[in-house]
Amino acid sequence: MTTVTRFAPSPTGKLHVGNVRTALHNWLLAKKTGGKFVLRIDDTDAERSREEYVEAIRADLQWLGLVPEGEERQSLRTDLYEREFQRLVSAGRIYRAYESAQELDLKRKILLGRGLPPIYDRAALKLTEADHAAKASAGEKPHWRFLLDHDQPIMWNDGIRGAQNFDPRQMSDPVIRRADGSWLYMLPSAIDDIAMGITDVLRGEDHVSNTATQIQMFTALGATPPRFAHEALLTGSEGKLSKRLGALGMADFREQGIEPEAIVALLARLGTSDSVDPSLGADALAASFDLSRFGRAPARFDEADLHRVNAQIVHRLPYARVAHLLPAGMGEPAWDAIRPNLAHIDEAREWWQVVTGPVTAPAFDDETRAFLAEAATVATALDWQADPWRALTSALKDSTGRKGKTLFLPLRQALTGHDHGPEMAALLPLIAKEEAVRRLSA
Ligand code: GLU
Repeated sequence: MTTVTRFAPSPTGKLHVGNVRTALHNWLLAKKTGGKFVLRIDDTDAERSREEYVEAIRADLQWLGLVPEGEERQSLRTDLYEREFQRLVSAGRIYRAYESAQELDLKRKILLGRGLPPIYDRAALKLTEADHAAKASAGEKPHWRFLLDHDQPIMWNDGIRGAQNFDPRQMSDPVIRRADGSWLYMLPSAIDDIAMGITDVLRGEDHVSNTATQIQMFTALGATPPRFAHEALLTGSEGKLSKRLGALGMADFREQGIEPEAIVALLARLGTSDSVDPSLGADALAASFDLSRFGRAPARFDEADLHRVNAQIVHRLPYARVAHLLPAGMGEPAWDAIRPNLAHIDEAREWWQVVTGPVTAPAFDDETRAFLAEAATVATALDWQADPWRALTSALKDSTGRKGKTLFLPLRQALTGHDHGPEMAALLPLIAKEEAVRRLSA
């Protein structure tokens, strides 16, 4: 059976690192076996869902290369929910209840006060048809609860957490539909997972208790539950997914010069003890993706790690991937010379400026100026096509006796205006010979 996974964000905000990790892992899980990754927009909450977030989610997935093979929208699937709902009502698995939020709260407090778990007491189950009729004529509208089967123990073998056991008697029958007819998350999600043929549900451990309930929904709907795996939550460097990380979207990372490949490389391994390998592309990451590598301890996301991985990624990016982002005239040899020095692609502009000039060199003392004047003379006679840096430095070493820093640093400073930078052997041939001579004699 082909693996089918889904990413099911609610479009009530932009994707943050935690959501993106879930999306990525579902994508990797599907790709690993040539399966299918589907995007499901959970927009049953009409008030909080926004079209701009739907578009941002699509754009972020596209940018990250996590392109879904299909997209579904819950707001367009309510006919299906209605049909399945009626089926479960007829089967006696959904019942009407009327308690207000305050009443429920009071019930909970009383139970807690007695040291008992705050489980819904199923009072509404005891209502007769006459009671319901009386409520209806008084203008009271019911909300709806799913009836858990107390005789059916809930267990599954979680792909990350191992054997899981829940006692339905210790759980409240969940409200699945509001009095105004609108849907809560729980039932539509199970209906969709069945209809969309989802084989693997991989999500955060904040959904573990939902899974317990949904497993009974799958069974009540006549389906075999999918495989489940729940990942430990992400924490920031200060513990718990910090406000900052929760608020940072992909657009913010884009602005900081973070490449999608860096996010993918880091998040693919976050939560495992495997090291991040910037040389692995998405396909290799998928091939090596393995749920059993993930632990139950919270995974720590550190922005500094992301910047470090980003630099490693930038150093490897081929010219074809970045050509459209580079300043006009900057070709492949220039990119290859300059990329080992970059933390962000954007910085290529600064080094290209060094190549094309003008550059500002520091003030040199007389002795250094004499040395540089000699360098200019040597340079004038060089064949610029044949490793001019090596030819220049070895000629100067012989004629002046300078070596090491006293040989290289003034040349670098005069030629680039910087103390550090890309390998001079790669950089110098990019600078036109006349321009190099001019800088040395300036
Ligand atoms: N819309 C739900 C969420 O964002 C989906 C959870 C799921 O079933 O994966 O939490």
